[in-house]
Amino acid sequence: MKSVLASAGVMAALLCAIVPARAQQAACEERTAAIEVPTEGGPAYGGMQYPRSVGLGPKQVALTFDDGPNPETTPLILDILDRHCVKATFFMVGIYAERHPEIVREVAARGHTIATHTWSHPNNLRHFSPGSAQRQIRQGFEAVEAALATAPEEDRERLAPFFRFPGLNDSSKLIRWLGERNIATFSCEFGADDWKSISSYQVRIRALRNIAYVGRGILILHDTKPRTAAMLSSLIETLLAEGYSFAQLVPEKGARELAAKAADPLIRPLRRTEVMPEEPETAALKPSLEPATALE
Ligand SMILES: [Zn+2]
Repeated sequence: MKSVLASAGVMAALLCAIVPARAQQAACEERTAAIEVPTEGGPAYGGMQYPRSVGLGPKQVALTFDDGPNPETTPLILDILDRHCVKATFFMVGIYAERHPEIVREVAARGHTIATHTWSHPNNLRHFSPGSAQRQIRQGFEAVEAALATAPEEDRERLAPFFRFPGLNDSSKLIRWLGERNIATFSCEFGADDWKSISSYQVRIRALRNIAYVGRGILILHDTKPRTAAMLSSLIETLLAEGYSFAQLVPEKGARELAAKAADPLIRPLRRTEVMPEEPETAALKPSLEPATALE
């Protein structure tokens, strides 16, 4: 009897852990505004380099994290974002996605947008031949797609047709090549120098200073840096206290399909999970949300 009660207790605890996590996810999606970004023809966004910005409102900040996934720091950052109900965009590097596919799936499962940042993060794609630069970009997309292959469909859809050049070292030829595949390029409005050897305190100060100066925009951070994880919670709290809100960059409806339909695409069409018709006796044994339909 005792063990039955104990296992019932364990089950209840498990359910309690799962149900609020899902409910919290839904509440968070309402809290962080989703900014739908058009990708047709491959626009380039971010006032630091381009005339165009994503449609953020005053005092709205879109957090973006580059260079992961990283087994030490990405999970810390995911927990901080969850705690504050903030959704972000992760520009991932192919080799790390291949090495840590479970973290790619975790980022997607927690409702963040996944974007890519080449295969191995060469500092300057301008110095590459067109063929090798294109291979870098393509393999970045392929690695993230492979990592998500076993994830549920709604998580696989988190991979957006979004790309960011390492070091923001773009080239107009490559932007055009991405554009032909309906992949949008992202720069930013501000950074926080978290890739430099400065303290987490300095990163926070620089982020706040740069955000206050521009007023709204995309912030570049790195989920590979302990100093970023160390200051992120405090940065979010300060921004919220100062009246800022957060926005998640998501592709405009149909953007994925548009990218997948391009000639020589970088994103493949999402393979829908096949639902096999069930044998009548098997169906009868399984609980169904719609018993009336199941009996027909
Ligand atoms: Zn980078």
